Amino acid sequence: MESNGFDISFKRRNRGKSMRVAMITLLVTLIVVPTTLCVVLLFRISSLQNEINELMESHSVVADNNSSTDGALSDGETTSSTEEQSSTDEITTEIPTETTTVEPLPDGKYAYLTFDDGPSANTEAILDVLDQYGVKATFFVNGHTGSTMEARYKAIVDRGHALGIHTYTHKYDSVYGGIESFANEVESLRKYLYDITGVDVRLFRFPGGSSNTIVDDITPYIQWINDNGYSYHDWNCSSGDADSKKPTAQQIIDNCMVQVDQGYRNLVILMHDTKSKDTTVEALPMLIEKLLENGYEIRAIDERSVPVHHREIEAE
Ligand SMILES: [Zn+2]
Repeated sequence: MESNGFDISFKRRNRGKSMRVAMITLLVTLIVVPTTLCVVLLFRISSLQNEINELMESHSVVADNNSSTDGALSDGETTSSTEEQSSTDEITTEIPTETTTVEPLPDGKYAYLTFDDGPSANTEAILDVLDQYGVKATFFVNGHTGSTMEARYKAIVDRGHALGIHTYTHKYDSVYGGIESFANEVESLRKYLYDITGVDVRLFRFPGGSSNTIVDDITPYIQWINDNGYSYHDWNCSSGDADSKKPTAQQIIDNCMVQVDQGYRNLVILMHDTKSKDTTVEALPMLIEKLLENGYEIRAIDERSVPVHHREIEAE
């Protein structure tokens, strides 16, 4: 009996001990495992936060450049110092990943003469007037082939003006016939201009402007432009030189003066460089004189210019 009683109490003690072990194991499992998980997760969160911060920083530089200064991506030349230069004639399709903050223009009145749809038989005459006044302009060109046209693209660049892409064909069906077609319209002209002039053109103007009514939804097209290292430029002053009833030189000047008289300090003037636009050439000297008289500095669009946008999409 005695030994039996000892046996029972030993078994009880033993059972008590294994229950304590089980309890401790349970407690350890309940405390240690979640704690370890917490620590691991905290580390993960902190490293993700760092990544987010880095992305936000680079994103804010891009957004800043795009909204206030035409974007450091606009000209390739200014941003590609840190990028590898393509050693072949092949134009690189890579988007610059690093952006430089661009000093904004000092407070002042700026006017941008922009000529769409060229080059043309009038390009030379336009360049001569610009040279005469020592001012620079921006030419949003299309894809025109032939040695005469090639010489005109070169002359625009050689004489210090800015080139912009206005799509290869300017045909609305093709330009706004889906993103793939649009991308081809932009990229093929970029390559063509690069082959002729050596300039990686990053300025862009939508045929019809970003507020055109040809396309139901311009958003994906703007998104593509923003995502692919271009900056787009509309206008806030139309010379009216593409109106169905051809304006006289005086009417072109008067049209432009409406915005001047309203005190616009960042004036982007829409004009056209096509064969039939002789009154545009005729109006140009007087227009330049009036702009200068009104205190404007006339510039070519560059990364320091504040872009005019008819339509914008929210930066992500
Ligand atoms: Zn056009």
